[in-house]
Amino acid sequence: MATVEARQVRKTFGEVRAVDGVDLVTREGEFLVLLGPSGCGKTTLLRMIAGLEAPTSGEILIGGRIVNDLPPRARKIAMVFQSYALYPHMTVFKNIAFPLKAQGVPKTEIPKKVAWATGLFGIGHLLERKPRELSGGERQRVALARAVVREPAVFLLDEPLSNLDAKLRTSARDELQQFQRRIGITTIYVTHDQIEAMGLGDRIAVMQGGRVRQLGTPAEVYGEPADTFVAGFLGSPPMNIVEAAADCLVGFRPEHFLPREAHDGSGTLVALGFRVTRVEYLGADRLLYGVLEDKFPDAKVIARLPSTVALTYEGGRRYAFAVPEKELKFFHRATGLRTAPRPV
Ligand code: ATP
Repeated sequence: MATVEARQVRKTFGEVRAVDGVDLVTREGEFLVLLGPSGCGKTTLLRMIAGLEAPTSGEILIGGRIVNDLPPRARKIAMVFQSYALYPHMTVFKNIAFPLKAQGVPKTEIPKKVAWATGLFGIGHLLERKPRELSGGERQRVALARAVVREPAVFLLDEPLSNLDAKLRTSARDELQQFQRRIGITTIYVTHDQIEAMGLGDRIAVMQGGRVRQLGTPAEVYGEPADTFVAGFLGSPPMNIVEAAADCLVGFRPEHFLPREAHDGSGTLVALGFRVTRVEYLGADRLLYGVLEDKFPDAKVIARLPSTVALTYEGGRRYAFAVPEKELKFFHRATGLRTAPRPV
């Protein structure tokens, strides 16, 4: 096992600053997710850790050792990408055994190692099949087994589940997490899907424009966003952000913005008049779209009400809503960075 560290890592492609000064240290055995919108530099950062791309400047360390000059093979890493290519003419067994053969592992050892790797992913019964005889989910498990069979110190995954349908993704996510916990291998996982990031990560590095905006546990990045980008990127719908003063923005999550009577009465509430313009039924929840009145006139916001809150809404009417004061997050308007709470 090993930790991965990036020190002031930069990568430019001509004019494009793909990665713009990233500092990052994983913990031993951690599942770290790089999360961000398309083009934020997550794949480039992962490829530099893997050794497939050389940093323009900065250092990459694996297990405390600078690896900038080491080729991918020598870095003790395994990678699985979105387009994991299995060898179509080889059986599952041969596909998984291939990296062992290439590494010169003795022939008698190979079946044992393949059995271990396939056991981890529950695909021991598929050894004689060819890739075309497998489902998408099975193929993906074969790719993962092939990646771990060499017992790498670090596991690098770039959107490995994005070729699966929604249902398979959920179960594959669960399997992947169980597997990672079982063998405790330091894992870096790239995704633009916040649900995946929140569900899988011990910590999440939220990236934008080649930089890490915030590194924290799922609860930290969701509950205590460091800036307006993180606040707006996480959560569906995202945090409501309205202008509180000339230099200050205030944010609150749609699930904390509830009718006054739906709050449990503990803690101070900030009352907000809410004119509802549209209601969306989502089964377990309802989304109420509308505008604030009084304090923040005409600011567009969204409320998320669990279906267990039994209230009837008419579009266009004004309702007495409230947010717990402790759930208000303040941001500096010009920089977008979090600032201290202030009275509203
Ligand atoms: P996605 O989720 O779409 O894969 P990403 O966050 O992984 O996005 P990167 O692939 O790391 O983003 O790309 C970061 C930026 O660098 C983008 O603007 C991209 O166009 C640019 N870029 C990446 N690779 C190259 C390259 N080989 N040559 C030129 N520009 C590149």
